[in-house]
Amino acid sequence: PPRLEVQNLNRAFDGQRVVADVSFGVPAGQVACLLGPSGCGKSTTLRMIAGVDMQDSGRIFVDGKLVCDTVFRLPPERRAIGLMFQDFALFPHLPVSENVAFGLKGGHAANRARVAELLDRVRMTSHIDSYPHELSGGEQQRVALARALAPRPRVLLMDEPFSGLDERLRDGIRDETLALLKEEGTAVLLVTHEPHEAMRMADQILLMRDGRIVQQGAPYNLYNAPADRQVAAFFSDINVLTGRVRGALTATPFGDFLTPGLPDGTPIDIVIRPQHLKIDFDRGGKGPAATPEDGSAALARVVRARYLGRESLVEFRTEQDAIALNATLPGVFLPPEGTKMWLMLRRDR
Ligand code: ADP
Repeated sequence: PPRLEVQNLNRAFDGQRVVADVSFGVPAGQVACLLGPSGCGKSTTLRMIAGVDMQDSGRIFVDGKLVCDTVFRLPPERRAIGLMFQDFALFPHLPVSENVAFGLKGGHAANRARVAELLDRVRMTSHIDSYPHELSGGEQQRVALARALAPRPRVLLMDEPFSGLDERLRDGIRDETLALLKEEGTAVLLVTHEPHEAMRMADQILLMRDGRIVQQGAPYNLYNAPADRQVAAFFSDINVLTGRVRGALTATPFGDFLTPGLPDGTPIDIVIRPQHLKIDFDRGGKGPAATPEDGSAALARVVRARYLGRESLVEFRTEQDAIALNATLPGVFLPPEGTKMWLMLRRDR
């Protein structure tokens, strides 16, 4: 069985369902990210698994053993589930050594080896006698991580564990944290509202909306095969082309899309990520230099081009129908306003 398993969790507050039929499993050694906008029910889900809130229905298992259902409820401290919060919640009156040893019987005195091992792994050995207020945000985060892992939890729950940190440091700290989590081999459920963080950390993303998991899978699947337009829009800006089915096809400036099994007149949204558009210069009526993988090309004019660092964002308007389309192109690409170009979409997109 998966290390952590959640079956059909439901929770309502004042008659409002905030967690609706949530089910998933997290194997040992994997990081699952519960991702979604603020208020979608992520923390409530986490709190029920931790045992500090109680579901209305549904069951929670750790290593195949029932931890909680509607009649049986193991107290939080007996679930072998560790917790790490956004504000790290270190004890200000205790030194680093006692903070890390907090979940261990006998404190630091009885667990010197384990405390030393963890402080070494988070590179905080030289701070063993420091107090939390003497540490930077990143150092506090590492102590909090060491404390959460010290009792060797079967499952670790992390609630927005990087949001208190300087934006510029976050990716580095995320990568270090991920490396340590993988070494420990625990099952991790990480709550975040940041798609970038989920893409960077997750083996599996659980995308939540209005209390439900709308899609779950590897980052690649959510990005490239989103369940709906909203899921697509969660991970990057998107272009949306609207059309209607005619004879199992929907016409767009990039050619006809197959939309089988739908009656004529069905409205269709076709979602295209800006980085999946290709461009070619207009060579005076000669048409684009298309390859067999390209679909039809649409003639468009540049409305505005901006350089974003890693890429350039170019806004276009098609000559026919005046459809607005954004394209992101690698590097510096700043064509002047009004430049005529061919826009294409790779067939495999
Ligand atoms: P998220 O973590 O995704 O931001 P939460 O799980 O914190 O979302 O909250 C989901 C919804 O449940 C929100 O509308 C929130 O106001 C509501 N909620 C959470 N806890 C309580 C509570 N103890 N009493 C009433 N409403 C709550």
